[in-house]
Amino acid sequence: MAEKVMQLKCYCNQYPWGKQGSNSLSARLCSNTPGTDFKIDENTPYSEMWMGTYPELPSYVLETGEDLQDVLDKHAPVLIGKNVIDRFNHTKIPYLPKVLSIAKALPLQLHPNKTLASELHSRSPSDYTDPNHKPEIAVALSDFEAFCGFKSLEDLKRLLQLPPLQPFLPTVKKPIFDDQTLKHVVKSMLVASAEAIARTNDALMALPREDFGKDGYIQDMIPRLSEQYDKTDNGTVIALITMNYLRLKAGDAIYIPADGIHAYLSGDIIECMARSNNVLNTGFCPRADRDSVDLFSSTLTFTPHDAEECILPSEPFKRAKNGKTTLYAPPLTEFSMLAIDLGQEENETVEKLGGPSIFIVTKGEGTLKVDGKEHKLSEGYIFFVGVDTKMEFRSENGLQIFLAFVE
Ligand SMILES: [Zn+2]
Repeated sequence: MAEKVMQLKCYCNQYPWGKQGSNSLSARLCSNTPGTDFKIDENTPYSEMWMGTYPELPSYVLETGEDLQDVLDKHAPVLIGKNVIDRFNHTKIPYLPKVLSIAKALPLQLHPNKTLASELHSRSPSDYTDPNHKPEIAVALSDFEAFCGFKSLEDLKRLLQLPPLQPFLPTVKKPIFDDQTLKHVVKSMLVASAEAIARTNDALMALPREDFGKDGYIQDMIPRLSEQYDKTDNGTVIALITMNYLRLKAGDAIYIPADGIHAYLSGDIIECMARSNNVLNTGFCPRADRDSVDLFSSTLTFTPHDAEECILPSEPFKRAKNGKTTLYAPPLTEFSMLAIDLGQEENETVEKLGGPSIFIVTKGEGTLKVDGKEHKLSEGYIFFVGVDTKMEFRSENGLQIFLAFVE
């Protein structure tokens, strides 16, 4: 018989954009995760803690040390459930939750759709390690800055009238500025030489701030991004001119569809995505690490197309009894996310979910009761919970949990 509730050991990776040492929430949570032997080195950046069963950074069952995927394969019907197995045709968890701690811009990126992903995977399996798409959501745990989707055509048309940006427009002027014009602009920014990008950034800095209208922030950000990468990095111009710049507060969320352009800039977030690790990078990374400009620009989608469209709304979760649970439900079959927030002496009951869930305690302490058995909860504790399991959470002094699930 498999345990329905299993405490997990998960690990953190060390991309250079991560927050340093104990400034990194992902590192702090990981160092509090029992069984990991993880010690924070103050000179190392820690970027992402992964909590799914993707082979690159898998999760292990704390009690037995087994790879969680091996346990799921053995007991799939009772842990994953027939509905989810039939829908996805495998016994894996169809989503991958992560905690990200971001000190500087992540590569400017998009995650290819299913058709392209399976093509890339069969052509180059070492670069594209699965045939799946990777739409994702990011829920802010702190102040969070991100570039996400494109500005409205109206705003783009206005900004691209600025003299330093006109070289990126098509030479044959069309009467309207549409998505084809935008595609041309993005592509010419991507292929522009290092010198041309540096020249553009200098010329933009030399303009009076009023010329940018409501986008005056562009002049604040050029020096900041140039310091993080370089003023010759194509990512600066693309992100600042064509993309929405969002500043979110804890609890706010964004949704990135497959093929959607994005670059996260700073903050701590819970991210969840379809089970995939495919990415096309173009900026905010060394030129040698960039994927093909043609591939990137031919894959681009034009949603979202203004800042509002990037936001993923939340709502009270109806199947939690005490109103302490918020639902984030992106338009996807792979997952939704719950945020459970308990104050002093509060409790919450989450009714049975129709598929497996994974949760992490991001703050506080408490207990989880399942079938009469009590599990201790504390910051950095991570659990897998099998299908059809009622969960009763309780806290004396406050508890915050993020739970990803599918059904
Ligand atoms: Zn991404």
